[in-house]
Amino acid sequence: MTAKESDFEHIDRSSASGGLDTPIQFCPGVGPRRAQLLEKMAIYTVRDLLWRFPRGYEDYQHVSSIAHLAPGGAATVIGEVIYVEARRPRGKSRVRHILQATVRDPGGELEVVWFNQHYLADKVRQGARLRLHGKVDGRAPFFKMSSPKLTVLGEDGEAAPGGIQPLYPLTEGLTQNVVRKIARSALERFSPDIVEWIPAPILEQYGFPARAEAFRVLHAPRPDEGAPVDSAPPEEGLLFDPAADAEEEGSGYSLSGDPARAWERARRRLVFEEFLLHQYSLRRVQGEMKQIAGMAHPAPVPDPFAAGEPPDEWTLNSSDPLAWPACFIRDLPFELTAEQKKVCLEFQADMLSGAPMNRLLQGDVGSGKTVVSIYAMVLAAAGGSQAAMMVPTEILARQHAASLRRFTQSIPALQSVVLTGAVKGAERREILNAIKTGAAQLVIGTHALFQEGVEFNRLGLVVVDEQHKFGVEQRERLIEKGEHPDLIAATATPIPRTLSLTVFGDMDVSMIATLPPGRPPVITRWTQWFNERKVWGFVDEKLALGQQAYIVCPAIEPSEAKPDLPSTEAMYERIASEFLPHRRIAMLHGKQSNEEKDSLMNLARGGELDALVATTVIEVGVDLPNATLMVVLGADRFGLAQLHQLRGRVGRGTEKSYCILITPEQISPIAEQRMRLMEKTRDGFVIAEEDLRLRGPGEAFGARQSGHVRFHLADPLRDAELLRDAHQCAQSLYRADPGLADPAHQPLKQEIDGLYGRMEARRPS
Ligand code: ADP
Ligand code: MG
Repeated sequence: MTAKESDFEHIDRSSASGGLDTPIQFCPGVGPRRAQLLEKMAIYTVRDLLWRFPRGYEDYQHVSSIAHLAPGGAATVIGEVIYVEARRPRGKSRVRHILQATVRDPGGELEVVWFNQHYLADKVRQGARLRLHGKVDGRAPFFKMSSPKLTVLGEDGEAAPGGIQPLYPLTEGLTQNVVRKIARSALERFSPDIVEWIPAPILEQYGFPARAEAFRVLHAPRPDEGAPVDSAPPEEGLLFDPAADAEEEGSGYSLSGDPARAWERARRRLVFEEFLLHQYSLRRVQGEMKQIAGMAHPAPVPDPFAAGEPPDEWTLNSSDPLAWPACFIRDLPFELTAEQKKVCLEFQADMLSGAPMNRLLQGDVGSGKTVVSIYAMVLAAAGGSQAAMMVPTEILARQHAASLRRFTQSIPALQSVVLTGAVKGAERREILNAIKTGAAQLVIGTHALFQEGVEFNRLGLVVVDEQHKFGVEQRERLIEKGEHPDLIAATATPIPRTLSLTVFGDMDVSMIATLPPGRPPVITRWTQWFNERKVWGFVDEKLALGQQAYIVCPAIEPSEAKPDLPSTEAMYERIASEFLPHRRIAMLHGKQSNEEKDSLMNLARGGELDALVATTVIEVGVDLPNATLMVVLGADRFGLAQLHQLRGRVGRGTEKSYCILITPEQISPIAEQRMRLMEKTRDGFVIAEEDLRLRGPGEAFGARQSGHVRFHLADPLRDAELLRDAHQCAQSLYRADPGLADPAHQPLKQEIDGLYGRMEARRPS
């Protein structure tokens, strides 16, 4: 008995029985030192290793020797840089930058030149091994290539292996060859542990290969299996060419027999698998939700959206709670747009019904999401329950509380409180008490809301504003403070339908597609530092008219390491002393105390400040209607979505507004595209999609936003078609066998349970 037990222990440690959960250290060829390095890349087990797919492949079958090149045709060579020089031609040439290199392989030397691609200087370094693909010019033995496509290879590929070699993501201390060997032996050794869990009829329907085979093909494709080896340099994860997928559109999966499509079939299978698991678990959670009775809020009397006389004619008694929603609508300082009314009605219908509301509220920056959310909160309060609104920053909490109080002035019985991390001591106790007893019907707060110690009397509605700033768990923790309260998750980040499927499953969507009337367009201009003085002159003119400006910097303090990164401290100094000394300017950033930020925002709102030099603390939600100027310094440092959010801070009043983006003269081509797009469009949807495209698959915010689940291979945008299929497949599986009792579904059940087990184990505390 004891002997057996110790046997077991032995086996366990040395991994044979651990299956894919075997710690990476016990994988052949790893050991403690390499295990540490792999763990740095979040590879803890064999499973993690197998799911870390190559970011591309090198084709060693078609590499030419430099000595045998033929001029006029295209060729691929591999060689070492033995000389490199960067030059800037003088005079008025269109060529601003020339990079020239000599590359040598065992048979000869090749001259290579690139024009205006200064960013390549990082890659083309003395001693680097390059794979070049391009048209061959010159004449033997003096061959040349002009602007060839370029891949930097690891130092260890000396004895160029044949066939197709995977290119893995690396970390310092691990070479390509080492990781290749580890992956290959893991694949051989653990292949029997790769359990097939997709039911056979589904595999058949889509023509997918078996699971172990799919892993084999992606890690070790054979030359004829159609792995994407071609000449495109594997820049920023673009190797899995989206264009190749598009080609296939319509042809469905019937390409099953063709051996040259084996790689693509394997990829699709694993993408589908990731989606199916995720969709199935979402579906299961939703199935459980639907069985739950939510809160049926009572109907407002009168119904403010029923047809009839205009609201200003209503005589209402605000001491009757059921009249509060109508009071609110009657007393708003503006009329809701048709779309805002439609959204209010959607909320209302869901809230009056017995099932829990689960709604995503989408609308571009400035479309007026706050006011409709507040309407739902008033409706909840009218029915005798509490409503909580969670926002990402202190500034925003205060601002929404102020709007809420302004909009509900005529309803004295409606009590609201603000709970943030900054509220301390006796005040905090008092507020917590008001929430607990129900004395406060409306609660607005930050992350402080879902912490322990916050108890509600009867939480009937949760609003999560700027929901993309919160994790799914944070949202859930707030929801758990009530008994299946209704949920509204508001976001200005437009989410294409395919992505919202991955993030929210079948969440209902409400959309405000138009801005309130009378909004002037925001004019966006991109310029460089040499124009700075002119920009401040322009800003000064506008400030003289009593308008206000935001000046945004990517950093708070100047940094020696990044001297060209504009910081609020340095810029504030410069602007306040040199450019706009006669204006009232203040600095606003995350290192200030909450009181300080608060009082600055109040001063700004009261017109006692002309300009704020700020960090992106002002990015979300901040509403200063009198601000007409947004100057973003070092704009190339910001992503598109962020720039769009920042720009959304202006153009909220009736004055013409401007957004000025300032960058260095030389920025990367991608940054340049971002600037041009900002100048060209104000449409949040276009910007969001373009943002995804420019960032490339993998960085897709769908992956980031999907809460627990990080996709390894799947990209909801690129693989939209597979996502839809997986979604349907999950629906019908769930419908046919909700408890997964069918013996044929046992592997699926285990996979899902395992996924959740691993998620729990990994969850950061
Ligand atoms: P967002 O959708 O970005 O959260 P807000 O809710 O902050 O937008 O609204 C932007 C501004 O528009 C606020 O000052 C708000 O009071 C105002 N607003 C909202 N709806 C209307 C409307 N129907 N007519 C006029 N102004 C409105
Ligand atoms: Mg908002």
